Parts: sequence; C-alpha cells; structure tokens
Amino acid sequence: MADNENKVAENVPGPFYVDEGCIGCRLCTNDAPDNFRMTEDESTAFVFKQPENDSETKDCENARDSCPVDAIGNDG
Ligand code: SF4
Repeated sequence: MADNENKVAENVPGPFYVDEGCIGCRLCTNDAPDNFRMTEDESTAFVFKQPENDSETKDCENARDSCPVDAIGNDG
C-alpha cells in the first residue's frame, strides 16, 4: 500500500501520488500519460497533473491497480 507520508517530492497536490517505493518501471506513465511522468533523472514517476475527467480518473486507477510495487496512492 502506498504511503502518503513518503511521497515523491515532485507530485502535485491532490488525491493521487507516487511514493518513494517506485522502481521506475514506467507502467503508470504509459497507462496514464496525461497524469504521470518520470522525474528529470528518470528514477521515479510522479503525478504532474491530477485527473480532471472520468477518463483520466479511470486511467489513474488502472495505473494504481497495475503498479508492481503498490507505489501509487489515492487519498480521494
Ligand atoms: S507503475 Fe509504480 S513502480 Fe512503475 S513507474 Fe509507476 S509508480 Fe513507479
């Protein structure tokens, strides 16, 4: 389960976030490219924009369900 006390610093505020457990597999940036991207050094993903419609929310939920290390959280 993702830890909201251990978020990647680059996340924008809001319900979805990536925590420091991310292994940089890029699955979420492929599943939800409108909301997740890699940090500049490409070590971890982060949420650069919170979902703004049902389609983006679904993509973010899919990314959260698919993350191999449960590093994506949704506090919404
Ligand atoms: S799917 Fe999970 S481990 Fe892979 S880049 Fe995204 S947050 Fe990191």
